[in-house]
Amino acid sequence: MTTPPSFPMSVSLGEARTMLGELLPPRQTRMTPLLGAYGLTLASDLQATVNHPSATESALDGVACREADTLSVPVRLELIGESRAGATFAGVVGPGQAVRIYTGAPLPAGADAICPVEQLEDVPGGVRLRRPASVADVRREGDDFRTGETVLYAGQRLTPARVALAAALGHAEVPTLAPLRVAVLSTGDELIEPGRPLVAGQVYNSNAYGLVGLLREAGCEAIMLPPVSDDLAALEAAVASARADVLLTSGGVSMGKYDFMRDLLIEHGEVRFWKVRMRPGGPAMLGGWKGLPVFGLPGNPVSSLVVFQVIVRPALTGRPLTPVRLRAGSAFRGLADKTAFWRVTVRGGEAFAYAQQGSGVLRSLSDAPALVMIPEGGLAAVGDEVDVLLLE
Ligand code: AMP
Ligand code: MG
Repeated sequence: MTTPPSFPMSVSLGEARTMLGELLPPRQTRMTPLLGAYGLTLASDLQATVNHPSATESALDGVACREADTLSVPVRLELIGESRAGATFAGVVGPGQAVRIYTGAPLPAGADAICPVEQLEDVPGGVRLRRPASVADVRREGDDFRTGETVLYAGQRLTPARVALAAALGHAEVPTLAPLRVAVLSTGDELIEPGRPLVAGQVYNSNAYGLVGLLREAGCEAIMLPPVSDDLAALEAAVASARADVLLTSGGVSMGKYDFMRDLLIEHGEVRFWKVRMRPGGPAMLGGWKGLPVFGLPGNPVSSLVVFQVIVRPALTGRPLTPVRLRAGSAFRGLADKTAFWRVTVRGGEAFAYAQQGSGVLRSLSDAPALVMIPEGGLAAVGDEVDVLLLE
C-alpha cells in the first residue's frame, strides 16, 4: 500500500469488540413462551408476581412442633393431625403437641420448628423425637423472593435455571430480544464439504461447523451459506446474497495474494479496522458491505474460533467470557504488543500448555478447550496466577 490506510490498523481486543457492537442493528423485543425462550436474552427486568414460598412451610418430611418443647431429647409429643401440600392442618399446635408434615406443606399455627422423619419413632398416640426440632428447616414465606421484587434482569441469558425461575415468578411468557441473524461464509479454493472425497492440498470446511454451533450457543440464528472460492466476483455475489443482520466470513483476510475477502472490503466495501493485537487471530477485519456489517475471521481454524470467542461472541451477546484465575502449571510467554492466547488443559486447578500451539492444529481446541490469556507485554512463570477462559 503506497498511501496510508483510511482505517485503523492493529486495534486492541476491547476496541474490536466495541466497534463490532456499534455496527449491530437494534434488536426488537418480543414476548416468547417459556418453552421457546431457552438461550435467548431477556429484554427487560422481570418481577415476581407472588411470594416464594407462598406460605411459611416445611423443608422436610417429619413433624411440626414447638422448638422449646424439644430442647432435651428424647421427648414424646402427642400427634394431633397432619399438614400436607394442598391440605393444611386447620388447628393450632399447643405445648407438647406435634403435627405430621411433608415437604412444602404449610407450617401449622403454633408450630415453629421441624423434626425430620429420620429422627422420629412412632409411639402410641404420638412420636418420640431423638433430636431437637429445628427452626432452620422452616422456609419462611417470601424468603426466596417477594411479590414485586425484581429477580431477573435485562441482558441476562435465559439459561434453563432462569427459565425455571421465570416460571416460578409466575410468567408464562417473557420479553426477549429477537435473535440476531448471522450468516456464515467460508472462503477458499481448497475447501471441500465433509462427506465428499478430498485430494491432497484440499481441506474439509470445518470452520463453518464450529462457527454455527458457537453462534447457536450465543443465542443467534445461524445461517450457513455455501462455501465460496477465492474469486472476487464469486465472493461479491456471495456477500451480496446474504440475508442477515451480520455476516461472518472465514478466510481470505491475511496478507496473501489470494486473500480476496480483504480486497473486497478494502476496494469495494468499507473497512472499520484490519488486524487485532492478538495471537492467534491477528488478521481479523471488520467492515461493511452496502450496510451489512461484515466480520472477517482468519481462515486458520484455531484463529477463527478464538477470535469468535474473544471478540465476536462478547459483541453479539453483550457478555464477555469471564476468566477464572488459576495457577500456571507451565510457563507462558507473552508478546510485547499483542494479547497472547495459549490453549491449555486444566488439571488440579492448574493450567498446562497444550504441546502444539499452531493455529492450524484443530484437535487442540478439542483436547485443550481452555485459553490462558497473557496481556500485552505480560509473562507468566510456573506457579503464577493467570486468567483462563474456559470454553466448555
Ligand atoms: P486463509 O486465512 O484463507 O489464508 O486460510 C488460512 C488457513 O486456514 C489455510 O490453511 C486454510 O486452508 C485454512 N482454512 C481456511 N478456511 C477454512 C475452513 N473453512 N475450514 C478449515 N480450514 C480452513
Ligand atoms: Mg484462503
